[in-house]
Amino acid sequence: MSIQYDLHSHSTASDGSLCPAELVRLAKLRNIDVLALTDHDNIDGIKEAQREAANLDLQLVAGAEISVTWNRSKTIHIVGLNLDIDNPILLSGLQRLCEFRRWRSEEIGRRLAKKGIEGALQGARSFAKGNIIGRVHFARFLIEQGHAKDMKQVFKRYLVQGKPGYVPGDWATLEEALNWIHNAGGQAVIAHPARYRLSATRLRQLLGEFQALGGCALEVVSGSHSRDEIQRMAQLCRTFGLLASAGSDYHGPENPYMDMGKLPVMPANCVPLWESPDWDSPLLRLAPDSSSLAL
Ligand code: AMP
Ligand code: MN
Ligand code: MN
Ligand code: MN
Repeated sequence: MSIQYDLHSHSTASDGSLCPAELVRLAKLRNIDVLALTDHDNIDGIKEAQREAANLDLQLVAGAEISVTWNRSKTIHIVGLNLDIDNPILLSGLQRLCEFRRWRSEEIGRRLAKKGIEGALQGARSFAKGNIIGRVHFARFLIEQGHAKDMKQVFKRYLVQGKPGYVPGDWATLEEALNWIHNAGGQAVIAHPARYRLSATRLRQLLGEFQALGGCALEVVSGSHSRDEIQRMAQLCRTFGLLASAGSDYHGPENPYMDMGKLPVMPANCVPLWESPDWDSPLLRLAPDSSSLAL
């Protein structure tokens, strides 16, 4: 059997619904060998995930999914992998984004109150298990209060651009996000590139800038990509000389669209990130001696 990679997933440290240890146990059950925990704008779940992974002989990659504002107003997500989670530059960058999230959550609360929905901030907080508050936590509160029937509807009605609970992002620049990742010794990957509703020209502009800043891979295989999108992203990897990553973007069992352990195979015409000589994977290096995996 080939090694199974899932390099994009969320826990309760951001907007996932399983705690880091539960997430790792599920990954093991689904036969994943190498799992990256990539919570939004924080690394708070990594230590717990590493401990559980060591118990289960699973390779845990320390990651984060960094929110970026690109081209003035577009929100883009950059996954950083193999991060040194003690790196002060990375930590202070993430801290800034968490502070923005705190202010944004208050602002979302104020905007929803103006529309007659009281107590949204407190409600969202009650759904957040970690330090991060995101739109998903507001979504859960709004559904609980009967303002929408499911995640899809609540985002469409309240939380996307042009709707009452939307606050424009003031995230990292692309350059900052890549600097933080590179300072922490990691690799930068553009998350779910087909999800941004960018024109072909804009997407090429993004890939060009990303590559010039030392970005290394595109998430070709994603839980949110169709077969056609996978092929298109594989082709773009070739055009831009980028490696290819694969990640489910798993958020928990209530999200049936992005399951874990069911990713399509990587197309043969692109080079997986983990085959690059820079990929820091003890699992690959230490494969003959499995006792040394439980570090
Ligand atoms: P935030 O980073 O707090 O602005 O929230 C972004 C997160 O919201 C994404 O990572 C998804 O988990 C979730 N999300 C965004 N758009 C949608 C949508 N249309 N339906 C369901 N979840 C969404
Ligand atoms: Mn999310
Ligand atoms: Mn994302
Ligand atoms: Mn994600």
